[in-house]
Parts: sequence; structure tokens; C-alpha cells
Amino acid sequence: MSDRTLRMLSVVAPVYNEEATIREFYARVCAALDGMPFELVLVDDGSRDGSTAALEELAAQDPRVRLVFLSRNFGHQTALTAGLDHASGNAIVMLDADLQDPPELIVKMLDHWRAGCDVVYAVREHREGESWFKLATARWFYRIFDWLTSVQLHHNSGDFRLLDRRALDALLSMRERNRFLRGMTVWVGFTQAAVPYRRDARYAGETKFSVPKMLRFSLDAISSFSHRPLQLATLLGFMISGLAFIAIPVVLVLKLLDSYLPGFSSVELSVLLLGGIQLISIGIIGEYVGRIYDEVKGRPLYLVRAHRNFPELDDDGDREPETARVPIEPPLG
Ligand code: UDP
Ligand code: MG
Repeated sequence: MSDRTLRMLSVVAPVYNEEATIREFYARVCAALDGMPFELVLVDDGSRDGSTAALEELAAQDPRVRLVFLSRNFGHQTALTAGLDHASGNAIVMLDADLQDPPELIVKMLDHWRAGCDVVYAVREHREGESWFKLATARWFYRIFDWLTSVQLHHNSGDFRLLDRRALDALLSMRERNRFLRGMTVWVGFTQAAVPYRRDARYAGETKFSVPKMLRFSLDAISSFSHRPLQLATLLGFMISGLAFIAIPVVLVLKLLDSYLPGFSSVELSVLLLGGIQLISIGIIGEYVGRIYDEVKGRPLYLVRAHRNFPELDDDGDREPETARVPIEPPLG
């Protein structure tokens, strides 16, 4: 077990258009962690409202507030990764900045960490202020995820997690582009523990996740942990071919009995059915090929526009940690 004296706690949160919430978030974190050595790493994910100014203001009055400004909106999971890359603590918490994840719970998570847990995840026992649609789709997503993958993900856990430094280093060594962080923190293993909590409604503002965004996120989650959809296409292929083999003797017998009618609709039906299955299968392959293409391009996960209160980093943000991590390969031949 690694040393469990808290030298520095990093609290990491992504911020995208949270102007109305960010000051309250800062105040609640400070109140909850009063007396502990902590840093608050906030990642501005290309906000277009007053969040940027509010963040600058906080950083100017409190050196514990460290800011990473991304060059544009990169999305929740990538912004969170940028924050984790910049965290220096020996224990790290990630949570949303909209106060749906209560910062007060961090104290309880730390107790588990001190007792030797490497990954402490918060489990929502109650979800306040979420639509019926969101809850139902979430339930379905987790069922399908369970069926298709072998990652044991708790159904009611989100990204609100505390990690020990060694678990975080393991997580950060995974540089894939399609990131499903909550699955990745389970995949790394080590000792895991759950803490129940009540998920509040958003403090202000509204969700940044539209239905298409949620769908994309679910596809990313499944494809990054399972090949089973590809195997399903193969399985369907075998089943349909099996049907065709059964159909051959039936057609022959009908022909011999002279009761065979040249059926237009049956031909039509099978053409449509087969065409549909083939297109779906190509689509599934396409989902994977697209992701392989994303990986092969090897672009940085995100670009930083500026940093605040990182003494070792230039404030113009021209040093980018992601590129610094990737070793440069010698040319072939
Ligand atoms: N967020 C972000 N980039 C985005 C969308 C969201 O950094 O493109 C942040 C947002 O500011 C919040 C967290 O991610 O702190 C969760 O977003 P949201 O509350 O909209 O998601 P929900 O709770 O509805 O799933
Ligand atoms: Mg939220």
C-alpha cells in the first residue's frame, strides 16, 4: 500500500458555461476541505459565458485555484483528463462543477483512501432533478454496457471518484481518444470501494448533454470496452445463412409438388431484410474503423491556451503536457 498521509489533495472539475455556479462551487469546496492541503484544478472547456472571467477572478485571489484554459470546447471527458494531467496531489478527486456532486462527500471518500482503497467511487442512491427520460436511458445504457462488456461498473456511479496517485498514474498512461473515464478507473483495478450519496439537482444553469451527445458518449463507452457488437454481426450472418439452407429443401419440395408460385413479396422481403442487416453490420464496423482512424492520427487529446497558478508552467500555455508525455519514435529504416 502506498503512503496514506495526505500531502496534497487535488480536486479536479471541468467547467463549461458555469458562470452562475462557479463561485458557489469554489465556496463549498473551500468550506468542505477547510484545514486540508488542497489544490482546486479547474479546466475551462472553452466557455462562452462569463465563466472565464469568474475563474480568473478566483485564481487571482486564491493561489490554490489552478486554471487550465483549453483552446476550445473539447467535451467533458477530455476536459476532465486535462485536469487530471495537471493534478499534483497524492490523492485526486474528480467531480462536476455544477454542484450535483456534493464536495462535502470528499471527506468521507478520504477516510476510505486512508484505510487503503485506491479508487473510491460515489454511488448515487437518489437522483434529484433529473428527467424521467434521462433516468430511463441511463438504466438502459448500463444494462447494455453490462451485457456487452466485462467491466464491472456500478450502475449508479458517475465520474465522481477519488483516486490514489498510483491509480491515477495508471489511468493517465491510457491515452486513448475515446474516453470513458468511469470505465477506465474500474479497468485499472487496485482496491475499489463505494460511498453512497444523494445526487442533488444542478445548482444553476442546465445540462450540457443533448440526446445526440449522450448517444455518442454511450457508443464511445461500449466500443472502447467491447468487440462484441462486431461478433454480433458475424453471428447474425451465420443465422441468416442457416435460414437460407433451410429454405432450399422447402423450395425444392414445393417445386416438385408443382405448388410453387413465383412470389414477388417473399423475394422483396428477403432482399430488404438482408440489405438491412448488411448495412447495420457495415455501420458497426464503421464505428470501430472511425475510432481506429482517430487513434492512428495521433493528435493531442486537447490543446491548452493558458495556465494560471502553475508556477512551473508558462502562462501562455505553450508547453502542452500531452505531447510531452508521448515519446517521439525514430523514423523507420
Ligand atoms: N462540461 C464540460 N464540457 C462539456 C460539457 C460539460 O466541461 O462539453 C462540464 C460541465 O460544466 C459540468 C460537467 O461537465 O461541470 C457535467 O456537465 P453537465 O452537468 O452538463 O452533465 P450532466 O450532469 O447533465 O450529465
Ligand atoms: Mg450536471
